[in-house]
Amino acid sequence: MARIAIVGAGITGLGAARELHDNGHEVTVFEAESRVGGHTHTVAVEVDGVTRHIDTGFIVYNERTYPNFIALLDRLGVKRQPTTMGFSVMEEGSSFEYAGTSLATLAPSWKLKCSPSHWRMIADIVRFNRQVKKDLANEAIPSQQTLGEYLREHGFSQAFRDRYLMPMGAAIWSTPEHNMEQFEALFFARFFYNHGLLEIHDRPQWYTLIGGSNAYLAPLTEPYRDQIRCSSPVTAVEATDNGVRVTVQGHEAEQFDGAVLACHSDQARAIYKQPTDAQSALLAAVPYLDNEVVMHTDASLMPHHRSCWAAWNYMLQSEHPDKPILTYYMNELMCLDDPVDFFVTVNPEGRIDPDKVLSMHHYAHPQFSPDSPAAQATLGAANANQRVVVAGAWARNGFHEDGYSTALEAAGALHQTLGS
Ligand SMILES: Cc1cc2nc3c(=O)[nH]c(=O)nc-3n(C[C@H](O)[C@H](O)[C@H](O)COP(=O)(O)OP(=O)(O)OC[C@H]3O[C@@H](n4cnc5c(N)ncnc54)[C@H](O)[C@@H]3O)c2cc1C
Repeated sequence: MARIAIVGAGITGLGAARELHDNGHEVTVFEAESRVGGHTHTVAVEVDGVTRHIDTGFIVYNERTYPNFIALLDRLGVKRQPTTMGFSVMEEGSSFEYAGTSLATLAPSWKLKCSPSHWRMIADIVRFNRQVKKDLANEAIPSQQTLGEYLREHGFSQAFRDRYLMPMGAAIWSTPEHNMEQFEALFFARFFYNHGLLEIHDRPQWYTLIGGSNAYLAPLTEPYRDQIRCSSPVTAVEATDNGVRVTVQGHEAEQFDGAVLACHSDQARAIYKQPTDAQSALLAAVPYLDNEVVMHTDASLMPHHRSCWAAWNYMLQSEHPDKPILTYYMNELMCLDDPVDFFVTVNPEGRIDPDKVLSMHHYAHPQFSPDSPAAQATLGAANANQRVVVAGAWARNGFHEDGYSTALEAAGALHQTLGS
């Protein structure tokens, strides 16, 4: 049995801790915040005298691309419910808006019904889906080609880029639209293919957890909950001759046999004093961007046509925005039968009536570039034979399955290095 420190209590850290605990190790989880969960953050709010529990971070997963996470939920006996994943786009200060829900919502106004560029956009969606599937099958997308280059090569229209693909990508990865140009086309194409986003019909079923996404935290941490130290920001992790020294702010350094850095890549870089060259290159390849997230009841950030309200609602801005604006319609996502509409908006930047704000948060999202996939592919090698291993959603596509899968891999590598 080894003594292992885990830095970070998001899905990655908690998943790694459980795996190592189940393999007979003694784990200690250090979490900077006063609560566990990281981006799994369900918040209790009282409106009109009734308390609800609304997710503000991790919300949905699907049956196709979350195999490890689903196996974990099944093992823990956590209950889920099917949900919908519609997408709408609206433009700030104009009447432009559409949603993919039905033929009627694709062009809800007469102006759009009569707009050649809008119909060209819709035709390009069909053409893009077909082209990408063909190019993936023929392995015809060169690695490191950017999404911007791919779109130019195939002559997709400006409206398709600006009013469909870039907003959709910006919404999925919480990144500025202009960053989407720099995504690796192959990474983007595989993600869209795997998530059924190139299909009109054959899309995976999405789920949310009944009662809120934090429903899995208690059963996951149950066997080692006494070993979790919240409000304990780690300031340094140093490899020594026979182990690892971990320092928490305001405390003496403690000795462990190994450590899992399950925080974000930039946070790991800040505390890890002697990364190997491989770990250093990997951590540097995926920076993070801070986003403001607000839970509220202000419907002014939703489409004007009620029929266009979707689970995900993206707002185009007239200037070149540095941050995407996305509103999740929580009643739809969490299947809430509630007279009050609850929304969670990423980067509202002062657009919400202060009287309707329920809670405010800051979450950072990984930002991918054409160099990221090659660096991410080195994760296994970078963690092999190391006492300090790294993991996180950032090391794959940025989602819950990615955090948990890399946690399993990192825990497995550490178990192998330290022995049972
Ligand atoms: C608004 C929002 C919505 C999202 N929706 C979805 C969704 O629906 N589906 C999905 O799959 N993904 C979603 N995600 C993506 C989400 O980021 C990942 O799914 C996943 O939760 C990230 O897990 P993680 O463990 O890598 O990081 P985190 O959950 O961020 O955990 C890292 C933890 O490390 C702690 N930490 C950092 N530095 C230190 C330190 N020095 N010492 C101690 N502790 C430290 C942090 O406080 C944090 O708790 C969403 C993200 C956001 C922000």
